[in-house]
Amino acid sequence: MRILISGASVAGPVLAYWLSRYGFAVTVVERAPAPRKAGGHAVDLFRPAMEISAKMGVLARIEERATGTDRLAMYREGSTRATEIDLTKVYGATSDRHVVIMRDDLSEIYYAAGRDDVEYLFDDSITSIDIDGDVTFEHAPARAFEVVVGADGLHSNVRRLTFGEEGELTRFLGGYLAVLSVPKALADAGRMIGHVGVGRLAALHTAAHLDDARAAFLFRSTAELDSGHRDPRRQKQILHDMFVGMHSEVDRWLDELEATPAFYFDAITQLRLDRWSRRRVTLVGDAGYCPGPAVGGSTSLAVLGAYVLAGELARAGGDHLRAFAGYELAMREPVLRSRAFARGVAKSIIPGSPAGTWALTRGAQLVSRMPAPLSRALAKLNTKGLRLFDSMQVPDYPEADV
Ligand SMILES: Cc1cc2nc3c(=O)[nH]c(=O)nc-3n(C[C@H](O)[C@H](O)[C@H](O)COP(=O)(O)OP(=O)(O)OC[C@H]3O[C@@H](n4cnc5c(N)ncnc54)[C@H](O)[C@@H]3O)c2cc1C
Repeated sequence: MRILISGASVAGPVLAYWLSRYGFAVTVVERAPAPRKAGGHAVDLFRPAMEISAKMGVLARIEERATGTDRLAMYREGSTRATEIDLTKVYGATSDRHVVIMRDDLSEIYYAAGRDDVEYLFDDSITSIDIDGDVTFEHAPARAFEVVVGADGLHSNVRRLTFGEEGELTRFLGGYLAVLSVPKALADAGRMIGHVGVGRLAALHTAAHLDDARAAFLFRSTAELDSGHRDPRRQKQILHDMFVGMHSEVDRWLDELEATPAFYFDAITQLRLDRWSRRRVTLVGDAGYCPGPAVGGSTSLAVLGAYVLAGELARAGGDHLRAFAGYELAMREPVLRSRAFARGVAKSIIPGSPAGTWALTRGAQLVSRMPAPLSRALAKLNTKGLRLFDSMQVPDYPEADV
């Protein structure tokens, strides 16, 4: 059975790895000209994604590449003294097994795990998918596949070709997110610096193995802005106006806006699709069920979804309709819970009032001062909240064809 996957970031390579282990013939098409190299932004892997990575034999590599940011110095706007937060305690409260890693490091590790058994087409994109699985590309000749999977992110091409324009399918969570690359000398490896005020949050971090540092900005907005989806000049202006004057350190990060080699800016939106499959096509990871970038643990959801989809296809012996039904059933609950969680995080991580600013800093400080078993015990009382990702189950599937 021939399966085409669009997207080679996180969900795509994990899915490709498992499908090829189960004996399927897998092709991955990726718009970027080459596999991703260290960079992007920092993402979280919680227990289910760590377990799946262990099954893939890449856990040690992932842990070796972790960013190692274990302290946070958080300044409330207007105050000159930072609140010191022990992030290992905060992460320990949310998960028994958790790692922060740069998205592109993670992508490279998953890609390397499966690349010998998978056909990768870089610098290309799907232009059409017909009802029988005939696919045309921008560059490669047309080919036929039994199954096509969109693993091409929040603004998925496969989703647009199959389900229509995304405006109908998304919900704005009331904020924006931006990341830019800045000189490494501005940051300390191991220690993140954060500044939080009413309606805005900025943070800087790096890792020993990176050549640069990453400044991330989140801000509230009651309505979607006319930020021009592909107009970085306008987006940089909005970001500058939103944060200038917050603190001299933040102003220094903003000075890099013109020269930065990497800039990301997007609304924090949530996908609201209830079904992810149609005929021969299905969606995985952010393409199908992004709960909101940076607010909903979507990387762990993408890894879990990719593993489950491959397992259901193997269990159904390649009967894709049966497999898609099993996949949607298994992922429904984790997706719904992640959406609810992300809506809550989007509200609290960018405080809307001085009291919210205080509560965010003070809450993190309290957890970081508690003995680890106590903070973990408190967090465990609520699997809908802090321990959401650890409470997701990783199903067992037939032994892979080794
Ligand atoms: C700024 C930012 C911060 C984030 N922080 C966190 C965090 O702290 N914790 C967390 O868990 N998650 C975080 N996320 C989310 C996380 O990055 C995603 O959930 C995760 O990368 C999803 O993986 P994916 O493979 O589904 O999609 P993506 O990583 O978005 O990958 C999609 C892939 O598809 C490719 N592609 C796109 N269009 C096409 C096309 N037409 N043809 C072929 N290929 C195409 C892209 O080049 C890319 O390689 C953050 C996201 C952003 C943007």
